Amino acid sequence: MQTDQNPCIICVAITGSLPTKQNNPAVPITLAEQIESTHEAFEAGATIAHCHVRDDDGNPTSDPDRFAELKAGLEKHCPGMIVQLSTGGRSGAGQVRGGMLPLCPDMASLSVGSNNFPTRVYENPPDLVDWLASEMLKFDVKPEIEAFDLSHVVQATKMQQDGRLKGPLYVQFVMGVKNAMPADEKILDFYIETLKRLSPDAVWCAAGIGPAQIVMNEWAIAKGGHTRTGMEDNVRIDKSTLARSNAALVKRAVEICYRHGRPVATWQQARAILGLRPRAN
Ligand SMILES: [Zn+2]
Repeated sequence: MQTDQNPCIICVAITGSLPTKQNNPAVPITLAEQIESTHEAFEAGATIAHCHVRDDDGNPTSDPDRFAELKAGLEKHCPGMIVQLSTGGRSGAGQVRGGMLPLCPDMASLSVGSNNFPTRVYENPPDLVDWLASEMLKFDVKPEIEAFDLSHVVQATKMQQDGRLKGPLYVQFVMGVKNAMPADEKILDFYIETLKRLSPDAVWCAAGIGPAQIVMNEWAIAKGGHTRTGMEDNVRIDKSTLARSNAALVKRAVEICYRHGRPVATWQQARAILGLRPRAN
């Protein structure tokens, strides 16, 4: 798998719902900061921007107008980069979470089941999951399935089989979330094996939270998958040092790719691997 035929897609999760300037002053919060930080990360090698937006007070929101402004800014300043908008549950409840899908971003995140998060239940009831999936089909938005648990992997393959999701699936294994799955290599191997068995054409990536970020980068790259980094998941470059930027975290992932003999995917390659429109936006 580790040949130059298998470029690695690096996704940068720039902001998220939780990190603040108190955690790391380099976390981009305003639209201008988000666009600048993404541009640096794009130049460093990231080809997917996973995006959340904040309101004027810095709190997470699902406001479609904010998302529209960010999407337009990224398309202008990072031409070709894949824009992935979050439908995650920290910024709103119910169908509000999918209010930005009519903007027709390249991709959106999709959770297909529930699990515990550090301080709450991450609620993804079946009817909401089905509605979000149907909106993504309607607006031709490619979902990135966020798998926090083995049941999410299985559920995504079921949804592909019965037509609620269009294949090939793109599944992200998320590990290192407190009260959900730890970063455990044997479990990751079983996730990969199960996904390949139930959905042979699926493509996968992996992300880790906090100190698990670099661990998951390393494993995903070594095992031939794609990977995610960025300040949404982790604000440190090592135990005692804050990351200077999203780009610094992307560079760390790029170095791991080189160490494992994998080229970093260009945006054209990333779009081809994911079956997205080949054009620059
Ligand atoms: Zn997110």
